[in-house]
Amino acid sequence: MSTTERPRILVVGGGYVGLYAARRILKKMRYGEATVTVVDPRSYMTYQPFLPEAAAGNISPRHVVVPLRRVLPKAEVLTGRVTTIDQDRKVATISPLVGEAYELPFDYLVVALGAVSRTFPIPGLAEQGIGMKGIEEAIGLRNHVLEQLDKADSTTDEDIRRKALTFVFVGGGFAGAETIGEVEDMARDAAKYYKNVSREDMRFILVDAADKILPEVGPKLGKYGKEHLEGRGVEVYLSTSMDSCVDGHVVLKNGLEVDSNTIVWTAGVKPNPVLSRYGLPLGPRGHVDCAPTLQVQGTDYIWAAGDNAQVPDLAARKAGNENAWCPPNAQHALRQARVLGDNVLSGMRGFPQKGYAHANKGAVAGLGLHKGVAMIVMGKMKIKLKGRLAWYMHRGYHGLAMPTWNRKIRVFADWTLGMFLKREVVSLGAIETPREEFYEAAKPAPVASAPKEKTEQKAKAS
Ligand SMILES: Cc1cc2nc3c(=O)[nH]c(=O)nc-3n(C[C@H](O)[C@H](O)[C@H](O)COP(=O)(O)OP(=O)(O)OC[C@H]3O[C@@H](n4cnc5c(N)ncnc54)[C@H](O)[C@@H]3O)c2cc1C
Repeated sequence: MSTTERPRILVVGGGYVGLYAARRILKKMRYGEATVTVVDPRSYMTYQPFLPEAAAGNISPRHVVVPLRRVLPKAEVLTGRVTTIDQDRKVATISPLVGEAYELPFDYLVVALGAVSRTFPIPGLAEQGIGMKGIEEAIGLRNHVLEQLDKADSTTDEDIRRKALTFVFVGGGFAGAETIGEVEDMARDAAKYYKNVSREDMRFILVDAADKILPEVGPKLGKYGKEHLEGRGVEVYLSTSMDSCVDGHVVLKNGLEVDSNTIVWTAGVKPNPVLSRYGLPLGPRGHVDCAPTLQVQGTDYIWAAGDNAQVPDLAARKAGNENAWCPPNAQHALRQARVLGDNVLSGMRGFPQKGYAHANKGAVAGLGLHKGVAMIVMGKMKIKLKGRLAWYMHRGYHGLAMPTWNRKIRVFADWTLGMFLKREVVSLGAIETPREEFYEAAKPAPVASAPKEKTEQKAKAS
């Protein structure tokens, strides 16, 4: 029996999976067949593969996000968090942006909460680190890095300069390698405009606990990526980790100690911890346990996909890797979302479910302007590309994968402008405290208190 007037399909999370699944359902749904409700604390979906380019200023931050209400006009979009799920009553608790939490009934549920940064209890990390999961962090990192150049340029104190010009990145996967590649490129470019800062004054450090970087593109290209970054002056320390970074004093396990104002943490992700409050079956690492149909194990009205789900990788299993699970990446998230959307409609209409199978198509990574690596899988063949050609592949692939024509055009326009105009190198760090200057101007002038002695004399005289 339906718990709402029309059956409600509740999509929890409006990221990659949430947006694409909701679009698919709305596209294939008959008029009035169901209400599609999407809940997300942000009013936009973030195209995460472009965060490093947004941090480098190659793409305007606004063009990296997709407004949910515009792209899903036929859906009910709620800005808030789903904090708990009551499966017996088929009710979700929503904690909205403002105001009291409330309950929302549903008939079908899509769990697409994605992942959060995976951290460890490293002293100083919570206070000093910055992640790279959202557009806010990318903008913050860009402003922060440029501000460090401003700081270094404005002082002759060697300790302050050294700390400002040392940049530490922990984690050398997609997110870390691409971010250090882009940010180093931007900082080097920006240094041209500073009289007292040169590229040689800056120190870029990449740390990873594994013995390679960019595992997504395979060992050969990962090695190339490492050598390429080293060729640009980046210090890459592998098989080591960060022990502490209290007050910006970074201590690595290999004995290296440096002072740095910038510690970027990109050492992997873990499924959203809120899942533990949904009462769903979870795998050993906290992912929602899914069947190949993307249905949550033991249910026929809940589906999950993307970074928060463990989905058997049928293609890899068929090729002999018996225990393979789909890796957490956009390639799977996008394709799973489509199958998931179809399966939700099939479930609602009483039709059979389809299994999800997708063979890896490869990976592309940008390491700064005109630099990149790409591995394209064609059947049994793996084509490995590096340098400018790989970078074009990276841009071409992601430019076209960006949701909506509106955003695709804006991204390509940003890149085209970047070819003719110089890169923007201004730091807008003050954006974080926009009312500060106005407050100073508008606050009431302090009442000048008369010195105590004089007041007492006056009182006596009168
Ligand atoms: C810097 C970076 C670079 C990357 N580069 C690549 C790449 O080059 N290629 C590639 O294939 N993959 C890449 N990825 C990975 C890819 O972006 C992810 O795999 C993909 O975004 C996963 O989609 P998702 O829908 O599972 O999660 P997300 O897209 O993260 O969406 C999760 C959504 O859930 C919302 N949410 C969180 N908590 C709640 C709550 N309580 N209630 C409601 N909503 C909630 C979030 O706000 C978010 O909108 C990259 C990731 C990063 C961070």
